[in-house]
Amino acid sequence: MLKIRNLQKTYGNYHALNGLDMDIREGTLFGFVGPNGAGKTTTIKIMTGLLRPDGGTVEIDGTDVLKHPGSLKDRIGYVPDYFGVYDNLKVSEYMEFFAACCGLEGLVARRRCHTLLEQVGLDSKIDSYVDSLSRGMKQRLGLARALIHDPSLLIMDEPTIGLDPRTRLEFRETVKELNEQGRTILISSHLLSDLSQLCSDIGIIEGGKMILTGTMEEITDRIHTSKPVVITIQENMPAALKLLKEHPLVRSISVKENDILVEFSGTGREESMLLTGLVEAGVMVRGFVREPGSLESVFMQLTSHEEERVVLSYEDESGL
Ligand code: ATP
Repeated sequence: MLKIRNLQKTYGNYHALNGLDMDIREGTLFGFVGPNGAGKTTTIKIMTGLLRPDGGTVEIDGTDVLKHPGSLKDRIGYVPDYFGVYDNLKVSEYMEFFAACCGLEGLVARRRCHTLLEQVGLDSKIDSYVDSLSRGMKQRLGLARALIHDPSLLIMDEPTIGLDPRTRLEFRETVKELNEQGRTILISSHLLSDLSQLCSDIGIIEGGKMILTGTMEEITDRIHTSKPVVITIQENMPAALKLLKEHPLVRSISVKENDILVEFSGTGREESMLLTGLVEAGVMVRGFVREPGSLESVFMQLTSHEEERVVLSYEDESGL
């Protein structure tokens, strides 16, 4: 559906995007997450045709939209992180105005507007003035407006910013329903907790680069290995350390009294095999546990470059 390769953007001397790659599969609800200033809005502005990149490609359904910007309008629905003007219109007039911009008029336009307002839970407000709506309602109206031309990809930039927790939850439910009805959606946020429950796929951006991306299952695997395995040794510490140092899936080791903290990148099955290996090497193991990780901890680790520190460190206080 969407394929971005090697996207580059500089503002003066500042590299806002540094070779960003991104893939969004059809039908997914893709969470685009990154700390403030990571490059989310810049990427979205390029995807929506509001900004020209300095390099790279953006394809939607196989069409190079940078070479054919006209094709973007039909394919993308965009909800920016601010609400536009036209406050002095009624909700129905606002929707019909945008419907007319998309070539829809008369009964067809009215039906389409009504269906969309129903989908976003605003049908009871059809005769209200836009400026009388709450922030959450305006956000829903922005969503309905972005869907008028039935785009194949809906893009939302920080849509829940400034909403209270209840309104945020309701908005997320609406987004989920739209995705279940078959729409491909990209939603950005600097809060991972905002998206981790909602999305089927996640992409984490930092410093203008995608640093981790995949389905929630793939990310969950990553989470599993984000915490160290703690092995408590009853007897034969030297044999344990020898085996661990030679193990290809062990990234780092640190020893604290009888505990060995092991950065181990293997699956659950490989963990079991590691334990069996230790026992077979004559090590008496008293404890073998991996704390459950969280998506938050992976995010913090990746966006603060903790990972490089962890991979490079090889603390060993044993003297071996
Ligand atoms: P936030 O979550 O704070 O909105 P973001 O991930 O959307 O951040 P961008 O708005 O894309 O990040 O900005 C990326 C970097 O580029 C930031 O350091 C920002 O200061 C810089 N930047 C963005 N727009 C401009 C501009 N028009 N001129 C100069 N620098 C810019």
